[in-house]
Amino acid sequence: MPVRDAFLVFGSPLIEEPEIREVVDCLRSGWISTGPRVGRFEELFREYAGARHARALGSCSAALHLSMLVSGVREGDEVITTPMTFASTANVITHTGAVPVFADVDRETMTIDPEEVRRRLSPKTRAIIPVHFAGRPCDMDPLMAIARERDLVVIEDAAHAIEAVYRGRKVGSIGDLTCFSFYVTKNIITGEGGMVTTDRDDWAERIEMYGLHGLSRGAWRRYSDEGFRHYEVVYPGYKYNMMDIQAAIGIHQLPRIGRYLGRREEIWRRYDEAFRDLPLATPPPPAPDTVHARHLYTVLLDIDRIGRSRDEIQQALHRENIGTGIHFIAVHLHRYYRERYGLRRGDFPNAEFISDRTISLPLSAKLTDRDVEDVIAAMRKVLA
Ligand SMILES: *Cc1c(COP(=O)(O)O)cnc(C)c1O
Repeated sequence: MPVRDAFLVFGSPLIEEPEIREVVDCLRSGWISTGPRVGRFEELFREYAGARHARALGSCSAALHLSMLVSGVREGDEVITTPMTFASTANVITHTGAVPVFADVDRETMTIDPEEVRRRLSPKTRAIIPVHFAGRPCDMDPLMAIARERDLVVIEDAAHAIEAVYRGRKVGSIGDLTCFSFYVTKNIITGEGGMVTTDRDDWAERIEMYGLHGLSRGAWRRYSDEGFRHYEVVYPGYKYNMMDIQAAIGIHQLPRIGRYLGRREEIWRRYDEAFRDLPLATPPPPAPDTVHARHLYTVLLDIDRIGRSRDEIQQALHRENIGTGIHFIAVHLHRYYRERYGLRRGDFPNAEFISDRTISLPLSAKLTDRDVEDVIAAMRKVLA
């Protein structure tokens, strides 16, 4: 008998009545693509992140891509990032024609090791993309110091880390550009969606323009009552804009971000306490003077003691009706990256160690206490 009857979906979002009503209102208004709700969401987010500008886009991947383009990453440049990330961080580097150069992570924090970044610098290095893995802020001071020394752009991948704070500074106000995701499994959601923050006026303006075909001036206003205006294409841009239907969800999710984080912190503490005697390592506590955004509760299974692979444990949990995630299979182990860049197992030992042992347990504001106890019961049963 599985520990529960209904399957517990990993990363299921909490969607509440106000955003449902707002989406319906948006549909009834007839203005469903980029419009006033996107403007409101950008303004709310800008205030939240403490940045000068926030621009909403269709995804965090789009945000990362445009951040590189506007900050001058060109074909043949090198961009340093972590292998312990979702593939999109590296994929978008290849979209610019630049070469992704990986730097290994710290085995404990699972975030990029600034010393490894230093070892990977070359005359072609143009940018660094640190990833605030699982919501834990990277050690930004040494990374920013390297960047300033070598005149590099720092683009933060904060897909996991909307709420994170590093030494009193909000993530979104530290690097040159910071990219966020509102994909369905993230801390707040718009279904699909992303945001980029920056203090540079010219970059913010170009991101907006590049994200909508490269059309000159607020082209979405073309059909408003301000009267028709011609536009010019000034750059062969992309279709990366956010829709008002998406922003309608975001403007109600964002004000609840603190409440949702509080609930995930509660679940986190319960897991920490419940797993103390199991053959696994729970995530280390956040560094002092930081706020961890608690996006993923990733444990490292002691596969030697357990005598089973991580995949076998994951399948066993699935049979108990508990959905889990793997964050991540190290990017350099994926076929494209092995074949295209000649990378292989052994190149980044810490990322590989994590990649073989990590499993992410459900951690969403939607979970009931009952759900959490089911996850714990299933873990105890499977690991016994
Ligand atoms: C989810 C995720 C992304 C991509 O976000 P999208 O909004 O789906 O494009 C990028 N980086 C990391 C680390 C992610 O987890």
